[in-house]
Amino acid sequence: SMAEKSFKYVIIGGGVSAGYAAREFAQQGVKPGELAIISKEKVAPYERPALSKAYLFPEAPARLPGFHTCVGSGGERQLPEWYTEKGIELILGTEIVKADLASNSLTSSAGATFKYDTLLIATGSTVIRLTDFGVQGADAKNIFYLRDVEDADELVDAIKAKKDGKAVIVGGGYIGLELGAVLKLNNLDVTMVYPEPWCMPRLFTSGIAAFYEGYYANKGVKIVKGTVATGFDSDANGEVKAVKLKDGRVMDADIVVVGVGGRPLISLFKGQVAEEKGGIKTDAFFKTGVPNVYAVGDVATFPLKLYSEIRRVEHVDHARKSAEQAVKAIKASEEGKTVDEYDYLPYFYSRSFNLSWQFYGDNVGDTVLFGDNDPASPEAKFGTYWIKDGKVVGVFLENGTPEENKAIAKVARLQPPVEHVDQLATEGLAFASKF
Ligand code: FAD
Repeated sequence: SMAEKSFKYVIIGGGVSAGYAAREFAQQGVKPGELAIISKEKVAPYERPALSKAYLFPEAPARLPGFHTCVGSGGERQLPEWYTEKGIELILGTEIVKADLASNSLTSSAGATFKYDTLLIATGSTVIRLTDFGVQGADAKNIFYLRDVEDADELVDAIKAKKDGKAVIVGGGYIGLELGAVLKLNNLDVTMVYPEPWCMPRLFTSGIAAFYEGYYANKGVKIVKGTVATGFDSDANGEVKAVKLKDGRVMDADIVVVGVGGRPLISLFKGQVAEEKGGIKTDAFFKTGVPNVYAVGDVATFPLKLYSEIRRVEHVDHARKSAEQAVKAIKASEEGKTVDEYDYLPYFYSRSFNLSWQFYGDNVGDTVLFGDNDPASPEAKFGTYWIKDGKVVGVFLENGTPEENKAIAKVARLQPPVEHVDQLATEGLAFASKF
């Protein structure tokens, strides 16, 4: 039987939130031996967004230890030694298979028990798989998903093995768009397939999407819209060879990458915590209904003060900030103090080819497109305002300078009134720069 270990604080999950929580604990003065991070992954917390970007570059790709947290937001790079120096125990390659919140204990797949006084749930998301829906042939070799470094390494090997081959990307979200670009940079023949009328439909308007689809087409990426993959053919080795589409078309493929969304990993806590919107319900300090149990990052459904709504946010900026908020709240409560409520301004970004966009706020209401969104322009710069109840509530900007991105963030936070929507189209970015 394996030994039982006890800690004052345990973070379950070793991703983005865990890395930023560890930094906050260290800043607040955690004592050696008080904090443990238990992670299924074999490596210390890292900046996950790199996996669909620089990690897959054909030249000078990003590799660990280069992108451990907290470099993604300009912070210190926490190597494994950093955790050792701070007396923070990194328990890697360890999957928790049972969580009993009533007895403050976690059990690993190897049978080890971990006790805690305070638990921070930071298990993030898992990918949705085509096999989950029983798509025919979806278990063939060389059909990939991307969530962690191990997934990325498998994809890197396949890119090398299938040099100049054909790749099909299933899904038109940001992961699909980033992967489509980076596989093209690797000289693969890339086709993207998605059912919606345009890419990133949850955020992009048709006007925004038209730019990216045009730009990708100019780069030689083929886009097939309005249909889905219904099956896969494979060869005698079990390797995928073709993607069958609902509309009857069949596309040759040596590599398939699927990016059809994620699902928060909360099953360990089913029936033990309140759930909402697919996540674990928390207050503005990321505290769950269970005393001394907090949930942060992708798994947390929290009050988004700015919109008087409760929401779940699956983006890296929130993973970082929610982790910091939870640790501040934990430490403050120990001293009988409180911290301010979380007051988050939603922020999301993506990068591919030479493109880079940022979005702040809420994408609800009417929209106004401004700027030069001609995909053939050498320096295209454009954006979109979202207007609800006569106020600007969200702003998107492609190719903004740091100052311009700051300006759009400010507008999304301030929500200035607009009298005439036309004014925004004419003024464009100048409107945002006034604040
Ligand atoms: P994660 O970072 O996913 O960490 C969860 C950790 O928990 C993992 O280490 C996992 O192995 C571990 N774990 C789970 N279950 C268990 C268990 N039972 N036992 C032990 N350990 C467990 N967001 C953006 O805003 N911009 C981007 O450009 C962007 N790009 C992305 C690219 C990719 C490829 C991916 C996958 C995500 C991207 N995201 C991006 C989203 C962002 O990375 C996530 O929102 C963020 O990582 C969430 O942080 P987290 O700590 O909640 O979860």
